[in-house]
Amino acid sequence: MRNGGQTTLIRRLLERRIHETVTDQDTTATVAVMLRVLPPPRALLAVWDAGIRSTFERLICEDMLELATVADEHEALASLEGDFRPIVVSDSLELIRRIRSCELPRHPHILYIPQLDESAERDAGLMAGANDCVGRRAEERELRARIGTARRIAELEEVLRITLIENRKLSTTDDLTRIASRRFFSKHFPREVERAARYGRPLSLILCDIDFFKNVNDTLGHVGGDEILKQFAMRLQESLRRGVDWVARIGGEEFAVVLPETAYEQALDVARRLRARVADKEFKAQACNLNVTASFGLCSILRVPLSERRTADHMLRVADAALYRSKNAGRNRVTATLMPGHAAKTPSSPAPPRNRKVG
Ligand code: GH3
Ligand code: MG
Ligand code: MG
Repeated sequence: MRNGGQTTLIRRLLERRIHETVTDQDTTATVAVMLRVLPPPRALLAVWDAGIRSTFERLICEDMLELATVADEHEALASLEGDFRPIVVSDSLELIRRIRSCELPRHPHILYIPQLDESAERDAGLMAGANDCVGRRAEERELRARIGTARRIAELEEVLRITLIENRKLSTTDDLTRIASRRFFSKHFPREVERAARYGRPLSLILCDIDFFKNVNDTLGHVGGDEILKQFAMRLQESLRRGVDWVARIGGEEFAVVLPETAYEQALDVARRLRARVADKEFKAQACNLNVTASFGLCSILRVPLSERRTADHMLRVADAALYRSKNAGRNRVTATLMPGHAAKTPSSPAPPRNRKVG
């Protein structure tokens, strides 16, 4: 039994290791590709000794760094503040100290060229904030190696930066319409509910779905359909309070509008306004003018209950049911539901909501 347990444990560990190796290889390959396609990093040569400056300008080839040369401290700092360069090569301890004390948007990798190639001088450079040192009379081979290290750090930071930005965008923004994604909605709508519960505030949710969108695709083609989706998202967004209300694309042609601090009557006004804004003016795509309508389902809670953790799900289901009723009643309309605050006490079956159809 004991041995069997150990065997299972070892097998699991090995399986996990195999799995980890594969993931690691994938990541390594992706990073390698990203590094390969990056252009040489941009660097600043801030060397006050004219002789050394021209030596380094000669030694640093285009394939190593994309070099800009500055001749004084003011110019160097202005350059870094205005147009950041991730690598700095300098013979000035004062400049290095200034760079390290400045609030730059990012931190450059600094390569210090000491006056004398002695350990005390190198130490002084490192103490001032340099990352590495290179002697004035360094062979090209050594210079290449040191720049190679600086370059690797700068490039890895760049890859990390790009990846983080892309991940953030991917996870929160819908690729087509540039509004919040379904993922963002799933994460942040429950947070809105929690917030409303914490402060005993009202909250409203509108779901809407474009009517007969299949026909739109049939008429305009998929690319034209995409264009309508973009314009549709824009019309919704433009009709909302900036920085408070927000809209997400939660399905192909289905959108959610979250109205914090908004009670039933106000939310109903918003839903009516959105419906009219879609239906009242033709959309233009693929050189065609097209009438588009959408159906809306609203769910409002006057006071979000504190204790119920599934209120977000309830609101979603109630709004979806209201939307369904709008579809069944002929589309291009709003159905509104006021969900009583206490309904959340019966999680699996919300209390029968008060419905109102609004033409
Ligand atoms: P209803 O009024 O009942 O909502 O009818 P509908 O045609 O809008 O609904 P249905 O669910 O039958 O079809 C939705 C269509 O939306 C089908 C699908 O091809 C299209 N669609 C979904 N996502 C996209 C997209 O990203 N781009 C385009 N162009 N079309 C999409
Ligand atoms: Mg539809
Ligand atoms: Mg749909």
